[in-house]
Amino acid sequence: MASRVAVLTVLESVDGHLSVAEIQRRLVAATPADAQVPDLATIYRTVTTLVDRGVLHALVLEDGVTSYGLAIAPHHHAVCTRCGTVIEVPAQRLASALEHARAGSEFTLSEQAGLTLHGLCPRCQAAGTTT
Ligand SMILES: [Zn+2]
Ligand SMILES: [Zn+2]
Repeated sequence: MASRVAVLTVLESVDGHLSVAEIQRRLVAATPADAQVPDLATIYRTVTTLVDRGVLHALVLEDGVTSYGLAIAPHHHAVCTRCGTVIEVPAQRLASALEHARAGSEFTLSEQAGLTLHGLCPRCQAAGTTT
């Protein structure tokens, strides 16, 4: 139960998606040294439960890593091709683009599943092209 709150707090703070390992890394960083951080198995169980309840949703990336994000509002995902960071894009910001895609392809797009876009996150843009 405590891990559930901890996981949600971490995900609310990033405005995007994190893998189980990343969630744990952030928990470790945010937890006082004398307090216990849930182990990976506990965090994995916690996010699985939260996905079942519709609080979180899972996104499987190209490399097979599953990342988890809040499922509160319909959104799309922008994946950084360099560092793998997943940023959530509010669905209404892409609504007109989706309308065009629908009209052009007669393809019904699911708001729930959303789109996955690829590019560079702000941090990697700032780092430039040298690395
Ligand atoms: Zn998401
Ligand atoms: Zn990046």
